[in-house]
Amino acid sequence: MPTYEELLERVKKELPETSISRERFQVPEAEVLLEGQTTVLRNFADIADAINRKLQDVFAFLLKELGTSGSLEDRRALFKGRLSADKINKRILSYVDEYVLCAECNRPDTHIVKEGRIAILQCDACGARRSLRVIKKAVKTEEPILQTGKVYEVMIQDIGKKGDGVARRENYVIYVPGTTKGVVVKIEVEKIVGNVAFAKLASE
Ligand SMILES: [Zn+2]
Repeated sequence: MPTYEELLERVKKELPETSISRERFQVPEAEVLLEGQTTVLRNFADIADAINRKLQDVFAFLLKELGTSGSLEDRRALFKGRLSADKINKRILSYVDEYVLCAECNRPDTHIVKEGRIAILQCDACGARRSLRVIKKAVKTEEPILQTGKVYEVMIQDIGKKGDGVARRENYVIYVPGTTKGVVVKIEVEKIVGNVAFAKLASE
């Protein structure tokens, strides 16, 4: 016969993940918005702060679990592709389960210690320790799509009202004077304003 404590433990384990919230410990809900093919997690830093973990660590986990790439920008996290808030929330709660909550006492008062190559979750409340799966940092700082001073090869898809060639690169519209429709040219970006860029033909 299982003891009362064992039963209680079992019930706790079977509760849905979303019930992880305690008086002193609340994981903020993900605030998600879609910008084209990018998913923006607006309050990412607030979430990382609330669970007391490093942005980079939580982000590496999310990228791996969500199977995508992305970048960190100020207090926001950007993911490639369109992801629902629900999907992101679930992954955050899995992170909390695996990397924050003590498996013994279920409290969030833990910290991660590194012993050689092994990461250990150390509970400050009950002293329990368990080893953690180490996630290789998959965080790539992505090259911006367009940068001033850089040279890109583009196709002139159109001619604008003022006679400039119009090219596109992802969500940017690039104006290139002195070109004709249908040609592929090397351009040097001179100025970027929002999603509009102005470029000249590259001299090389
Ligand atoms: Zn504990």
